[in-house]
Amino acid sequence: MRVSPYPFLLCTLLALVACRSPRPQPADPGPEISHTGDQIVICDQHFSIGAPVVLWTDPGGYNGYSTERHFTDRPKPKDSPAPGTLRYQPGRVSRDGSKTQLVSPYSRSVAELGRAVDLFVLHYDVCGASQSCFNVLHDHRGLSVHFMLDVDGILYQTMDLREQCWHATKANTRSIGVEIAHIGGRAKRGLAEMERWYVRDAGGLRVRFPSWLGDGGVRTPNFIARPTRDYRIEGRIQGERHHMYDYTPQQYDTLVKLSAVLCQVFPRIQADGPRDGSGTVTTKVMSDGAFQAFGGILGHYHVQRNKVDPGVAFNWEPFLASVRERMRLFPLQNTP
Ligand SMILES: [Zn+2]
Repeated sequence: MRVSPYPFLLCTLLALVACRSPRPQPADPGPEISHTGDQIVICDQHFSIGAPVVLWTDPGGYNGYSTERHFTDRPKPKDSPAPGTLRYQPGRVSRDGSKTQLVSPYSRSVAELGRAVDLFVLHYDVCGASQSCFNVLHDHRGLSVHFMLDVDGILYQTMDLREQCWHATKANTRSIGVEIAHIGGRAKRGLAEMERWYVRDAGGLRVRFPSWLGDGGVRTPNFIARPTRDYRIEGRIQGERHHMYDYTPQQYDTLVKLSAVLCQVFPRIQADGPRDGSGTVTTKVMSDGAFQAFGGILGHYHVQRNKVDPGVAFNWEPFLASVRERMRLFPLQNTP
């Protein structure tokens, strides 16, 4: 069920009024996201990332642990998993079929988890908004991902990183995953449908949700999502030409801050992507050998040949440089 943030805001306002605080209110209270924290959860421990985070336990959060549908006010999907079905693997197990436990479901050891996790996998959700993404992943497909990053830069964590989410096949055991809200890129086929998600106004290019999506559940009131680059990006992935609009600056900002923390908590996740012989981040799936040897930040398309996300518009080099800079400026005080 969708939980509106407004009753919570109203309660907060009523509480403030009840306190009759003598302090004058600031003229500009800033964006209305004060009801979110900035901490992610790893093995029951909290780590600040410096960007807004809504946990699965927060009002309006998305609970990946739930074995029931989240949007019970919507018609039951035909493909919905049976009630009581888990959408994830508790803890971490080896992927060789032996089911050897690498991290126990109740482990509180970040160091133990750090020996199993060496990948951070980036996806786009092809839904355009995180609320819709969770509906598809959790209620329809019976899948999971640790994080969803909405167009306004708010990060949703759906479960503890100790758990193994089902988002990237052979990478699941070793990885943390994020679904970035975006309608995605297209080859020539599908371009017209993609273009309907964008419009130009006085401020430039912006996302326009289709009417059936409403406000998409985006938490920042009246948020206007504008691609960081004001034009359509063209490039190749898996050898095929694709077109796509960029992510929002708010999404890049949160993703940089999240990545900088993950790369420090998990020393085997290098702040770098898979590179080809020429030194550029490769646009193709990795060979099995390269995949086994790699530890770092990668796209879903680096894992699977049948995937193209996070797409041709994902701006790897500025992103990776920003992650490294953030790590230099904000070293974790309590690295495990
Ligand atoms: Zn993906």
